[in-house]
Amino acid sequence: LNRRFAEFGTTIFAEMSALAARTGSINLGQGFPDTDGPDEVREAAVRALREGRGNQYPPGPGVPELRTAIAAHQERRYGLVHDPDTEVLVTAGATEAIAAALLALLEPGDEVIAFEPYYDSYAASIAMAGGTRVPVTLRPHEGGFRLDLDELRAAVTDRTRLLLVNTPHNPTGAVLTREELSAIAALAVERDLLVVTDEVYEHLVFDDAEHLPLATFPGMRERTVTIGSAGKTFSFTGWKVGWVTATPELVGAVRAVKQFLTYVASGPFQYAVAEALALPDSYFAALRADLLAKRDLLAAGLTEAGFEVFRPAGTYFITTDIRPLGEKDGFAFCRALPERAGVVAIPNAVFYDDRETGAPFVRFAFCKRTEVLTDAAERLRAAF
Ligand code: PMP
Ligand code: GLN
Repeated sequence: LNRRFAEFGTTIFAEMSALAARTGSINLGQGFPDTDGPDEVREAAVRALREGRGNQYPPGPGVPELRTAIAAHQERRYGLVHDPDTEVLVTAGATEAIAAALLALLEPGDEVIAFEPYYDSYAASIAMAGGTRVPVTLRPHEGGFRLDLDELRAAVTDRTRLLLVNTPHNPTGAVLTREELSAIAALAVERDLLVVTDEVYEHLVFDDAEHLPLATFPGMRERTVTIGSAGKTFSFTGWKVGWVTATPELVGAVRAVKQFLTYVASGPFQYAVAEALALPDSYFAALRADLLAKRDLLAAGLTEAGFEVFRPAGTYFITTDIRPLGEKDGFAFCRALPERAGVVAIPNAVFYDDRETGAPFVRFAFCKRTEVLTDAAERLRAAF
């Protein structure tokens, strides 16, 4: 493994899912639902396979049906208008979109500001592109995690090329507010920065939180690369259908890289996701209601077990602080948790450059069946 990549090793998700399998534990680590998405969407994929749509290389930018559906979804929900032919690119999941965007937009040595804790592929993709990551730490504040706007402003230097934003935020569950997004947008305009914004959890917001795409803020449409994914919204994480929306120039740049990463992917699934994006609002509302109930179920169990719970406004993850349990090292805690409680979780420290700051935080996924969450909550209550 080369020096640029040596620090990355195996992703925590693979490590922890293997631990769950080996110990027969309930896997609340890696974020994937234990129930597949809607039958009609699955059947749409079967139909595409049977009818021979997408079984051979689909067009490089994605099949027209899906590009049109992505543009229609952005317009219907957010009033963002994109030309499906020049402003939409289908990728092999959001993961490829992130990597391709950073490879396309960074020169070696460029600085990228990302919120810490950050989704693990950000650090790896910045490294692949030869960039330098500059973390701005989200800090616990009034039951959630908050961005300090002064810290963000102070992190910008003459070498900063790009802000890598993620809202709703994995792993903390924070959803950036209108004020925070306005400040980020103003900063990007003032310092002439590009923004790559990972909005894969756009539909998973709770209570009175609202997802606002950064591209809708003044001055942002022309400098923002927005990334989405079908994996989270439709509960088919294995299909690996993601997308990028941006100006023709930015989409063209990402596409230039993407064609040499995978060229194309997910042929028949692209047709199925096109149908999924046209599902009525009731589908998205039901998904949110289901996850909200599950969030509350798991949050109650974790609280009763003695964890400090940061109730997420979005995503399907709960970040906890283990210090009230007399623990301080999330890595050691997560490695011992299968034996102690028969449950697997993720140590948030892997999402920090400053592992000390991240040490006491542990993430639990709640995109699981109710009986599985009930069982997990009981095990945790019994163990602590
Ligand atoms: N970004 C974030 C914040 C994520 O949590 C994930 C998924 N786990 C991804 C990107 C990757 O999405 P995909 O599976 O579509 O590649
Ligand atoms: N995004 C998922 C999570 O945060 C996992 C994706 C992966 O395994 N790469 O749990």
